[in-house]
Amino acid sequence: MAACLLALGSNQGERIANLLAALAELRSHPAVSVERVSSFLETRPVGGPPGQSNYFNAAAIVETQLAPAELIAALLKIEKKLGRERSERWGPRTIDLDVLLCGDQVINQPEIAVPHPRMQERPFVLAPAAEIAGDWVHPTSQKTIGQLLASLPDTSGDLGLRVITSPGEIQAAVLELRREGRRVALVPTMGALHAGHLSLVHIARQHAKIVVATIFVNPTQFGPHEDFGKYPRTLDADLQALSDARCNLVFVPSQADIYPPGFSTYVEPPAVAQPLEGVCRPGHFRGVATVVLKLFHVVPAHVACFGQKDFQQLLVIRRMVEDLSLPIEIVSCPIVREPDGLAMSSRNRYLSPAERQQALAISQALERAAQLAAAGEKNAAAITSQMHSILKQAGIERIDYATLADPETLTELKTLDGPAVALIAAHVGKTRLIDNRLLNSP
Ligand code: AMP
Repeated sequence: MAACLLALGSNQGERIANLLAALAELRSHPAVSVERVSSFLETRPVGGPPGQSNYFNAAAIVETQLAPAELIAALLKIEKKLGRERSERWGPRTIDLDVLLCGDQVINQPEIAVPHPRMQERPFVLAPAAEIAGDWVHPTSQKTIGQLLASLPDTSGDLGLRVITSPGEIQAAVLELRREGRRVALVPTMGALHAGHLSLVHIARQHAKIVVATIFVNPTQFGPHEDFGKYPRTLDADLQALSDARCNLVFVPSQADIYPPGFSTYVEPPAVAQPLEGVCRPGHFRGVATVVLKLFHVVPAHVACFGQKDFQQLLVIRRMVEDLSLPIEIVSCPIVREPDGLAMSSRNRYLSPAERQQALAISQALERAAQLAAAGEKNAAAITSQMHSILKQAGIERIDYATLADPETLTELKTLDGPAVALIAAHVGKTRLIDNRLLNSP
């Protein structure tokens, strides 16, 4: 049995999915046991044609009975199965698998060389390798992987986003950053990112040196007849957008990472979860509160950013943080809208062009409510009846609510004699959209 260190890379197609697929293949190999996997590090391509995407690189430690030549053959087979075309040198590739080290063996044959001959020069190989095998000794140079990495010129600028899939690893990484005195901000999302999510990343950056985003489509906040199955999943584009927004770390857990077999502990959400969404989506905030509490533990950040787009969610989380004395500051971020007023939402991509037009009535109804309140209208029913008629005129029939509420408790208002928020949830075609707006009275 030998412990071997492997390098994995992908810069074509669904890069993280390709790496995960390669790891799954390795795990199912009868003579290979995957012991440890590094994070997935975004790196610039070296050489090759211009315009290539960035890579995601990773390293893995495997235990195997295979001889190095057999292990390399097994890796080639996996590459082939995952659609790798070995074409131009340094060209883009869906998956690239290499053996870096096999214990202290040294093999120099035309078709097989271990240690990998160029590993010492490659930060994109050494950086992930150092995470899991920093003290392994490279048998020809007699330096550890950590020393080899440290001896390279400063490469921090070549390393971009770091993607972590394991809760234990992200927790360790964030705790380490905190120990180094770095402030950490968290931006939880369900992916299918748009400019609203990215505004949260920018606001997070104003609060902390390190920004951690999470991408997890949380099953427990969806009702049985809701869109969990078809919720948009666009991981590769999301990672590109987060990298461009200079996010530092992304946590992308699997469902089993968050809800392991036997999971049965849930948060009972606070009273503010009961009206509105609480009526229309029973169990929704139980799922939200549970996953957010878990994320706060797994990513122990100093501050977390949430959008006002999900106004009730923000109140639920603020209350939970206060009630449970959680050591995290909650920052609320303004709603980002399309130029015509539609609040950005991952679900907007479900809308047909005609529905997209219809959906505008939601922000228009809120705008009307704001105008009426600003003009001194105190009668809530007078305002909500106009909101309803704007929605109905646009052909929106299924209105879950279009109401005015106290912005702290969400109790429905009959009279506007203090702070107020107008909230709407309505179905446009098969898509349920929510939006809201704070109202100012004269
Ligand atoms: P989601 O991916 O829908 O769970 O949203 C993740 C975070 O992004 C939540 O805090 C949302 O409130 C926030 N968010 C979603 N849409 C917008 C938007 N249009 N403007 C600002 N924040 C948003």
